[in-house]
Amino acid sequence: MFHCHVCGGHTAHPEVVNEIFTTEGRLVQVVGIPAEICDRCGEATMTRETTESIRLLVHSAKPPVKTVPVDVFAFAAGGGVPALVREQPEKPYGN
Ligand SMILES: [Zn+2]
Repeated sequence: MFHCHVCGGHTAHPEVVNEIFTTEGRLVQVVGIPAEICDRCGEATMTRETTESIRLLVHSAKPPVKTVPVDVFAFAAGGGVPALVREQPEKPYGN
């Protein structure tokens, strides 16, 4: 029976997902992974067999299907909010 390792939920549904992994300091995305999605928290769980296939895939000499640039943001508590978000909207009738 399904048992979510995050929330302990017991029901899930199959879904094909995309996941990002870090391997040897390299960021890789694997698309089209069959997974079980927890109905309660949405955590994706893969079978041991699938996980092993992913491991072999990202360590293989096989070229990726495509390469994309990645934007990296550092989360900083307080003061780390981008200026765009921090700005107050202009007062429509201000003087
Ligand atoms: Zn869950």
